[in-house]
Amino acid sequence: MSLKLPQSLVDRALEILGPRAMRDYPLGPMTTYRVGGQAAIFLKAEGLKDLANVSVALQETGLQVLVLGRGSNLLVADAGFPGIAVTLGPEYDTAVLDPAESLSLAIRAASEAEPGADRTVKAGGAAYLPVLARRCAAAGLGGLEWAVGIPGSVGGGVYMNAGGHGADVRSVIVGAEVYDLGTCEQLYLSSTELGLGYRCSALTQSQVVLCAVFSGHTADPDAARARIGEIVRWRRDHQPGGSNAGSVFVNPPGDAAGRLVEEAGLKGLRVGSAQVSVLHANFIQASQGGSADDVASLIGEIRRRVADRTGTELQLECRLVGDFLCSSGRE
Ligand code: FAD
Repeated sequence: MSLKLPQSLVDRALEILGPRAMRDYPLGPMTTYRVGGQAAIFLKAEGLKDLANVSVALQETGLQVLVLGRGSNLLVADAGFPGIAVTLGPEYDTAVLDPAESLSLAIRAASEAEPGADRTVKAGGAAYLPVLARRCAAAGLGGLEWAVGIPGSVGGGVYMNAGGHGADVRSVIVGAEVYDLGTCEQLYLSSTELGLGYRCSALTQSQVVLCAVFSGHTADPDAARARIGEIVRWRRDHQPGGSNAGSVFVNPPGDAAGRLVEEAGLKGLRVGSAQVSVLHANFIQASQGGSADDVASLIGEIRRRVADRTGTELQLECRLVGDFLCSSGRE
């Protein structure tokens, strides 16, 4: 029996999705926290037909959907996700530098946003940002070096407006092709229509980023590679390795969440298998074989203690998926 769901709904969804859809599929290993339970149903979408089938399954069964990228910003509950988790397959792990078909439109839009932009890259939703950053740098396409430090996919990066080192997706994106699982429509959304803000976008949870076009500029490959090297070194020195999902909280206006957590004396604080990193107070480390509920409890504890001490209510950057036993104080 799948995750408290009526078996008839799960069976019907599996029938619509076809034999590649899997039931009771472990999601924890698909996230960088590496904790958490199963998805009632999991599908790696190999093309638009699969996504259209997901739309039909959602409409017929009323199940929820989770679009999963590299899982580097997700905490999945130990109880799992009671719905259909869908991720983009290798067909969407692509990167075409200076694509002819979108070049003129993209460059026009890009140079309006960023004077000097003369190159573009069209990347699939499943492309891994660090690999994209390195490929662009090696080909002398500058502007995406910052993305080497973000262990997510292009789709997750757009949804979250990921960023760092003085740039973010908003500063380089021209637009994205999106498939709406709610309406079965494929849309092109411009940078403005994507509604990108600080670690957020206007995309709904049923809109799947299929690909995105980014603008850049002609750069010396050696200089771009050197910048990448600097970023990688900075990350190694300032951020922990192991099982985590990067920053747990967004920075409150004019402040840094990590600073508030550190000042509250919470570095190293542990709840069961989860611990506030001693290297960076806005990171939580999960132990091997640990539980998502411990991570969520620790999040709740940090929020309570920081609010008591400073009056600041920390807001989550990390997305919580499914039902947790404890209170994370999730908004
Ligand atoms: P997931 O974690 O899989 O999903 C995140 C959200 O995006 C979910 O809501 C999901 O539904 C949605 N999503 C995923 N794929 C798609 C798609 N194809 N279409 C539509 N929606 C989709 N983030 C930063 O911004 N800056 C940093 O400096 C940074 N540093 C990090 C360092 C470490 C060590 C780690 C582990 C994480 C870090 N992150 C950082 C967080 C994370 O890498 C980013 O938020 C990243 O953009 C998430 O991408 P993902 O593919 O892993 O998305």
